[in-house]
Amino acid sequence: MRIVQELRSPLNRLFIYETHDGYRVESVFYKGERLCISTQVGCPVGCAFCASGSKGFFRNLSFDEIVAQYELLKGKLPIKGIAIAGIGEPALNAMNVKRAVDYFREKGLKVTISSTGYPMEGFKELVKLNHNGLTLSVHALKEETRRKIFKKMERLEKLLQVIEEHLSQSSSSRRKKFQLGYLLIKNLNDDEENLRLLAETALKHRFTVMLMMYNEVEGKGLKAVTKEEYEKAFLFLRSFGVRVTLSNRFRIDKLGGCGTLTIARRVQ
Ligand code: SF4
Repeated sequence: MRIVQELRSPLNRLFIYETHDGYRVESVFYKGERLCISTQVGCPVGCAFCASGSKGFFRNLSFDEIVAQYELLKGKLPIKGIAIAGIGEPALNAMNVKRAVDYFREKGLKVTISSTGYPMEGFKELVKLNHNGLTLSVHALKEETRRKIFKKMERLEKLLQVIEEHLSQSSSSRRKKFQLGYLLIKNLNDDEENLRLLAETALKHRFTVMLMMYNEVEGKGLKAVTKEEYEKAFLFLRSFGVRVTLSNRFRIDKLGGCGTLTIARRVQ
């Protein structure tokens, strides 16, 4: 694995790596402290909004390839934490992700994970890891909307049940390490019913909601909400008493923002 190019925006630094067999994956250094890394070449989950899965799926990254994304940069950047939220669904590569989480934690790094929960068996493993935070990307609560977003998915109630079973055997502070991720997309999942169900679910499980703004990706035909619509959804969720965090500017940067990493960027 080697770095073949670095791209910079005023906020983020994006690194393109080439694997020994010629595939490309990416990582992003953001917030001046965190490296968001990839776990697969492409992604079979194929979320409707995401560039990472749009070219299909080729293979899992090995443990060595996952940690190499950090190892190749560690002396050059002040990396304090790892976000396992780049290209790929970590639950599909759970064993290598587990080894990588242990490796990073032993090095004193904070590790957060984002997962859609597919497949269930892999998700069960992720939930138990020694992570500092796991975001379950729900993106919609109504079954019909979820089907429009995810090509492959598990039932949300079952995923929440897995987390609850884990929490029933953990200390009470462990609950704070789980949250629901919701990427707000215009005319897809920004309706009151999905948001009301999201609020009810968050309250029932006492989870924070990370409400994210969509980064428009070419060819997806999906639209971002306006700043006003985003704030309206935030206030709507808050009106139920839900704890909500908003996308920071690093996450909505055109370079390296959520859902914008790809395995097919042209290298100059
Ligand atoms: S959002 Fe994550 S799970 Fe969905 S297609 Fe993109 S990389 Fe895969």
